[in-house]
Amino acid sequence: MLDSYKHKGMRKQLVDELRAKGIKSEAVLDAINAVPRHFFLDKVFTEQAYSNMAFQIGAGQTISHPYTVAFQTELLEIKKGDKVLEIGTGSGFQTAILCQLGAKVFSIERQKELFMKCKPMLDQLKFTPKLKFGDGYLGWPVFAPFDKIIITCGAPYVPDALVEQLALGGRMIIPIGEGKNQEMHLLVKETSGIKSSKLGVFSFVPMLKSTVK
Ligand code: SAH
Repeated sequence: MLDSYKHKGMRKQLVDELRAKGIKSEAVLDAINAVPRHFFLDKVFTEQAYSNMAFQIGAGQTISHPYTVAFQTELLEIKKGDKVLEIGTGSGFQTAILCQLGAKVFSIERQKELFMKCKPMLDQLKFTPKLKFGDGYLGWPVFAPFDKIIITCGAPYVPDALVEQLALGGRMIIPIGEGKNQEMHLLVKETSGIKSSKLGVFSFVPMLKSTVK
């Protein structure tokens, strides 16, 4: 795949748009500027890859809006070397952004088709996340605890396993709600318990119960 000057120019415009919408972290904006989003979309969408839109990525799923990716990533406050668990690899774009920020990424996807599709692109960009075909409700206990956990699908509730696998002082960003819209929640694990705050309404595909063991 080619990352042309035209794509780079469109990406800069997208970054300006995200800044205007309230994204403040220069590290996150730099990461969005660095990762070619069009690599993660079907060729037919290449021209619109840098508009703030969601697109079909196969298996009835969608890549998140760039604003949503930036919003969730900013809230995670990624530091180099953080262990980050992502639920819902999808296209792999959010995974790539986390890798670009220097995180050690562990990402779980329950749709085989998408799990198979994203790896070549991440390889081409020289990112080396650990990818798992499995059920996000269970997390990835062998690699726990995680400094940060990001859920990129609408969860009906906060899965217990994910709370258990969050490190003390760790942050989890999770959209909660079963309908069309979800409320974004930030959970911080403190010695006294979980501190939770609500951060606005978003629209995600649902986090589904999986038959994968
Ligand atoms: N981060 C992705 C977002 C994709 S949409 C991107 O940037 O493209 C959400 C993804 O969550 C879908 O691919 C869907 O298949 C996946 N998903 C839904 N329920 C899941 C579950 N229980 N475990 C793991 N992944 C799940």
